[in-house]
Amino acid sequence: MQHNRIYLLRLCRIKMKRRQTESKMGILNALKKANSALSHDMLETLIDTPIDRATIYRVLNSFCEDGLVHKTLGDDGKQYFALCGHCAENEHGHNHTHFHFRCLNCGKVECLKSDVHIPLPTGYTFENFNGFITGRCSICI
Ligand SMILES: [Zn+2]
Ligand SMILES: [Zn+2]
Ligand SMILES: [Zn+2]
Repeated sequence: MQHNRIYLLRLCRIKMKRRQTESKMGILNALKKANSALSHDMLETLIDTPIDRATIYRVLNSFCEDGLVHKTLGDDGKQYFALCGHCAENEHGHNHTHFHFRCLNCGKVECLKSDVHIPLPTGYTFENFNGFITGRCSICI
C-alpha cells in the first residue's frame, strides 16, 4: 500500500518533469525556428504542444535568468523574447547593447546585429539596454 503510494508519487513527478522538459524544448525550438524575437502570443501559436500561459511565463523567465533568452519591451507594450548568443557563459549574465526592430507590416521583431555604445555620464554604470525601432523590414518594403 505504502509502496504503491510512493510509486505513484514518483511516477507523477517523472511525468511532471517530462512535461516541463517538453515545454522548455517546445519554446526553445519555436524561438530557434522563428529566428526572431517572439511575444507570448506569438509563442503560443507557434508551439506544437499546447502549453498554458503560466508555464510559458515561467519557462521564459527561467531562460532569461539562465542567459539563454533576453527580453525587450516593444513600443506596443508587449515583451519580446529572443535567443542569446553567449550570455549563458558570461559570468555577468546578459550584456546586450543592440536595438530591436519591429516591422509594422509583418510584425516580425528582430535583433539588430550592430551594437550601439552610448556614453554615460561619469560615475554611471550600465545595467540594461532597451532600444526599440519600428519601421518596415526588407521584405515588406
Ligand atoms: Zn543575453
Ligand atoms: Zn516586414
Ligand atoms: Zn535581441
